[in-house]
Amino acid sequence: MVLSALSFIRMRRSILVLFLAFPLLFAGCKKSTTQARQEKKEVQKPVATASTAPTPAPVAVATPTPTPVPAIDRSAKVMVLLYHRFEDRPKDSLAIPPAEFRQNMEELKKDGISVISMKDFLAWRRGEKSIPPKSAIITVDDGYISAYNVAWPVLKEFGYPFTMFIYTNFVNVGGKSMTWGQLEEMRDAGVDIECHTVSHHDLRHAPKRTDDYMAWLHNEIYGSKEILEQKLGIKIVALAFPYGTHNEVVRKMAKDAGYEAMFTVYGQHMGFDAPMDQLGRYAFDARHRDIFKMAVDFGANQAGAPSAEVASEVPSTSVVTQPANDEHTPNPRPTIKANMASLGDVDPNSVQMRISGLGLVPAKYDAQSKSVSYEVTQNLIPRAYTVILSAKAQGRRVETRWNFTVDPSASAAPATPAANKQASGTRM
Ligand SMILES: [Zn+2]
Repeated sequence: MVLSALSFIRMRRSILVLFLAFPLLFAGCKKSTTQARQEKKEVQKPVATASTAPTPAPVAVATPTPTPVPAIDRSAKVMVLLYHRFEDRPKDSLAIPPAEFRQNMEELKKDGISVISMKDFLAWRRGEKSIPPKSAIITVDDGYISAYNVAWPVLKEFGYPFTMFIYTNFVNVGGKSMTWGQLEEMRDAGVDIECHTVSHHDLRHAPKRTDDYMAWLHNEIYGSKEILEQKLGIKIVALAFPYGTHNEVVRKMAKDAGYEAMFTVYGQHMGFDAPMDQLGRYAFDARHRDIFKMAVDFGANQAGAPSAEVASEVPSTSVVTQPANDEHTPNPRPTIKANMASLGDVDPNSVQMRISGLGLVPAKYDAQSKSVSYEVTQNLIPRAYTVILSAKAQGRRVETRWNFTVDPSASAAPATPAANKQASGTRM
């Protein structure tokens, strides 16, 4: 279903030409023959149509109206929410009480955040359509029955599209699992169903007693997709990594398998350039309820510099970073640094640095200079990276992020003063 929709969009241009061409080229002869037959049987007179059809066709075909290229809002931001179970008396932090879930959904509306479908998100990333400046995608992982009988009615009520990431070993197995029939019902109602592997195992390591990691991984990535596609007659385009963990081998195989989007769990407000093989999600966690607050906070400068993000009510202060924001560096092992002096009293134990593709890294915070640094220990492959730095300062959680690109063709880094100026746009 999704395939045909996607290819339809891709082929829109050619289809449009066909629509224009076919009726004009063939309608003439088709109509005239059928009408001729009709005329013999019943003595009606659709003569006018029959006689006007043939001649003007080629001219019209030669100059079809070009499909206008849609204006894409590249400054829009998307955040992805992740839920698992919906229970009144949660037994663990992954379950959200239904009333709170409803509040979350209400809050999206109140904050002017548009819930968009996976399909719209992908179309935006392909440059095919725009999305609202503050957009959200709702995802529900694993395939628990409460997604079907608790969350779905609420989502229906709000008219929100959403995506279910299913792991195939957890379908039709009783307990809290869903049946294939229920998934079919959701599919028929327009719920997007995507893949969450076969066994829900960390994809970076084979389980015990598995001697062929690659064959096992192949089944987790290809096998699950095939099962879902065959059981439900759908086209799978997205993969959610179990526990959000992945590595280059995993991402490459998933890409080869045809997944257009891959999702992790580390939430971020994603711009047009967010890497499609590691899209972050804000996962509900009862121990960290501020995660939802962070998710709905698109920042004061939402429409401004795409790299700056305000995590909570913090005064905007400049943070000097290295590499500088948007810098291209030829060095595959850069030292990544930020001076946090402008933040005041940073709790040294709260400082966390994350790098896209690497995750949480053991960065060192130096209380004397109030700077945090991390030396990359393995060569980074040439591409764009996002650094996310978070800490507690004066009891508040602050977060900043910036981008740099490892680019072998870039000239060696210019002196720092210029870089500092660039980086001053980064806010905490
Ligand atoms: Zn899961």
